[in-house]
Amino acid sequence: MTAHVIDGKAHAASLRLAVGGAVEGLKRAYGLTPGLAVVLVGADPASEVYVRNKGVATRAAGMNSLEFKMPEDCSQEALLSQVRALNEDPSVHGILVQFPLPGHIDQTRVIAAIDPAKDVDGLHPMNAGRLMAGVSGLAPCTPLGCVRLIKDRVADLSGKRALVLGRSSLVGKPMALLLLNENCTVTLAHSRTKDVADECRRADILVAAVGRPHFVKGGWIKPGATVIDVGINRVPAPEKGTGKTRLVGDVDFDAACEIAGAITPVPGGVGPMTIAGLLANAVTAACAQAGVPVPEM
Ligand code: NAP
Repeated sequence: MTAHVIDGKAHAASLRLAVGGAVEGLKRAYGLTPGLAVVLVGADPASEVYVRNKGVATRAAGMNSLEFKMPEDCSQEALLSQVRALNEDPSVHGILVQFPLPGHIDQTRVIAAIDPAKDVDGLHPMNAGRLMAGVSGLAPCTPLGCVRLIKDRVADLSGKRALVLGRSSLVGKPMALLLLNENCTVTLAHSRTKDVADECRRADILVAAVGRPHFVKGGWIKPGATVIDVGINRVPAPEKGTGKTRLVGDVDFDAACEIAGAITPVPGGVGPMTIAGLLANAVTAACAQAGVPVPEM
């Protein structure tokens, strides 16, 4: 079998288009322009690229984009004050604090300071609780994007066996809950799981979010399974001695292609869906704050 390669870029482009259409409609019908604020602490080059890309995508979708840069040595209190000011600003409907934060800042306190209604990253305990209760709220963008990709391949998720590899609050746990809310039978595996390969072999849907290059081997995959590779790992490029690097996922893509029914590549799979999902969350948040229906996206 040669797996269908899921084109995350194309899916993300169509979601971004739908978000842009939704924003146009909100402007026309209610004079509502969703605003997304991103706070960046320090000058980590990768974070700067992410923030820049988010700004470009936000503006391209017709939304207002605000960026707040704070110095690496800014105090916890200064960051919390910035977040509180954005909570109070009616033109800001979504707030995202770019992670990782410098070591002296308590990430948990920062997340808790964000108004849950503006928590477009879906990390506030209130939104995590809503996800656990299976009621609507803002869920983390990466797992939301994964569900969209899975649903495009698997028409009915009900009763499907899903394995999520990795239990982070950002990806693994919300991913497992989203799949549970879709009536999958979910297993959540982690570094203490006894026989990960065996767990994988039973899964109709396999989501890998481990952060280890090519961790999932071809022989671990159930024939015909849908494989979603969240991992982003930088490894040396095959050309020896050049110092070049390339990105690979958590799944041995070439081997998995021989067995899976569908698979996301890295890059070009889950990654593009994350920013598109963020934009969709910003629209959802803006509608909830304005008390208007959320358009189809
Ligand atoms: P993380 O916080 O480091 O969590 C990794 C998880 O993998 C942990 O739960 C860990 O288990 C588990 N794990 C580690 N070694 C394992 C092993 N040998 N067997 C089974 N489980 C193992 O990472 P994350 O933030 O969830 O991110 C995971 C990957 O996704 C990273 O490569 C990251 O760059 C990528 N990512 C991509 C996107 C995107 O937009 N595409 C977004 C976010 C993250 P324990 O809990 O037991 O330690």
